[in-house]
Amino acid sequence: MLQKDGLRIHPVPAFEDNYLWVLEDGRHAAVVDPGDEHPVQAFLESRGLALTAILATHHHGDHVGGLEWLAKRWGCEAFGPAGEKIDGLTRRLREGDRIVVPGLDVELSVLDVPGHTRGHIAYAGPNLVFCGDTLFACGCGRLFEGTPAQMADSLSKLARLPAATRVYCAHEYTMANIRFALAVEPGNAKLFERSLREAAARAAGRPTLPSTIGEELDTNPFLRCAAPEVVAAASKHAGRALATPVEVFTAVREWKNGFR
Ligand SMILES: [Zn+2]
Repeated sequence: MLQKDGLRIHPVPAFEDNYLWVLEDGRHAAVVDPGDEHPVQAFLESRGLALTAILATHHHGDHVGGLEWLAKRWGCEAFGPAGEKIDGLTRRLREGDRIVVPGLDVELSVLDVPGHTRGHIAYAGPNLVFCGDTLFACGCGRLFEGTPAQMADSLSKLARLPAATRVYCAHEYTMANIRFALAVEPGNAKLFERSLREAAARAAGRPTLPSTIGEELDTNPFLRCAAPEVVAAASKHAGRALATPVEVFTAVREWKNGFR
C-alpha cells in the first residue's frame, strides 16, 4: 500500500456507540462515515487539520449525516457506493475500483459487501479495512436489505484478507457481541481470553477496535459457520440439522436477532 510514514487513525466517537474513523498525517485528514459533522469538525479544529476526503460505506444516516456539510465546508472529494443514494458524493465506487485518498497518498481498493444494505462497500488496503456495518468485532451487521447468502458471501470476502489486516468497524458493539459469541461457543478458549481483554479495555475507557481478521477468524461466530462447534450449536438452537455454511450463518444471525 502506498502509505506515507506517520499516518495515524483515530476513532472519533459519535451518537451512542459509533466511531467515525479519521486518518491524518498531521496536516491533512480523511474521515470514514461521518454520521455527524460536529465531532469531526471539532476534531479537525483541535488538531489544525484540513479535511481532504470523505469515504462513505453505506447510506444510513449515522454514517452519512454529516457528509454534505463537511464536503461543502472543505470542498473535498466525497467517495461512496455507486449503488446507493447518498447526497453530496463526488465519486461513486464499486468493486475493483482503486483510489488514492487525496491529501494522504493512501491507496485503497473497493469491495462490494452487500447484506446490511444492498450497495454497501468496504475500503481495503494491504493492512487495514474500513468495513462500515458489515463486519463487527465478534459480530456482523443486521440484514436490513440483503439476503443471508449475500451477507455470508460478503463476510467471506473480508475473511480472505490477510490475518494481520486491521478491522475498523463503525460501532463499539464488542462486549454485547462477545456475550452472544460465548453462548454459541462456550468452549472457545481464544474467545474467552478475548472477552477478558476487551472487558479490561472498556473498563479503562478504551475502544476495542481495530481488531484483526485473524482475531475475528478465531472468535467471531459469523466467520466460523464451518467450524464443527458452531454448526452443532446452531443446529441445536434451530432444532434441525443445518447442512451448509449459509444455513448455519442464517441460523446464527436469527439466533443473535433474538438474543438478550
Ligand atoms: Zn448501517
